[in-house]
Amino acid sequence: MDLKRIIPKSYQDELPIESLIVSGKISKDAVSMDVLFVGAGPASLAGAIRLAQLIKGNGGPKIQIGVLEKSQNLGDHCLSGAIINPVCFQYLFPEIENRDFPFRGQVVGDNVYLLTPQHSVRIPTPPMMSNRNFFVASICEVVRWLGKKAENLGVELLTGFPAKSLLVEGNRVVGVQTTPSGLNRTGKPGPQYIGAVR
Ligand SMILES: Cc1cc2nc3c(=O)[nH]c(=O)nc-3n(C[C@H](O)[C@H](O)[C@H](O)COP(=O)(O)OP(=O)(O)OC[C@H]3O[C@@H](n4cnc5c(N)ncnc54)[C@H](O)[C@@H]3O)c2cc1C
Repeated sequence: MDLKRIIPKSYQDELPIESLIVSGKISKDAVSMDVLFVGAGPASLAGAIRLAQLIKGNGGPKIQIGVLEKSQNLGDHCLSGAIINPVCFQYLFPEIENRDFPFRGQVVGDNVYLLTPQHSVRIPTPPMMSNRNFFVASICEVVRWLGKKAENLGVELLTGFPAKSLLVEGNRVVGVQTTPSGLNRTGKPGPQYIGAVR
């Protein structure tokens, strides 16, 4: 057998850094935010929620926190099912019971099988594959639920805005530039294209 080394980098195009990081002045039409998270996945939403909670809890100054998302509706681009360890939810929302999180049900056990062309052999569950007592969820439902919590804390959700480039001034990041939704890899309108930037 030919055990050739496969290096993923050799099969990927170079990142177009010159168009991903651009320098220039902020346009006068820009929407101003104190803190902006790009991409409304679970990570950004949890970050925005925690920041809003900390500022509220410490009686800090009112700041504008935004989350920019390329899909038209929250969760539209979050497709996977998931098994979730609820610890982050419990940390972010200590007042909420597990049964009130956007989960579908609790995992009661794991069966792991080794599959051969003809047979399946049950093997002991490797510890890192054990999901007992975690919860089954739809990432899209989780994201929509987190979005509502974020909005209730005053976070602004900006959907339908793909970020195109990071905008820098000197060595300071000052914002992001958006682009119309639905462009294909070459920057031309694809089937999802709905027009110019709103
Ligand atoms: C098939 C599959 C199964 C998985 N199963 C599990 C599981 O069982 N348990 C588990 O814990 N995890 C699982 N994961 C991993 C989990 O989905 C990710 O770890 C998690 O979603 C990462 O969250 P995130 O917020 O970092 O990013 P994402 O969930 O990827 O969210 C990124 C968001 O950013 C948006 N976005 C991207 N680019 C731009 C842009 N240029 N401008 C604006 N918005 C943008 C996207 O539309 C998306 O909404 C699975 C992943 C996959 C693919």
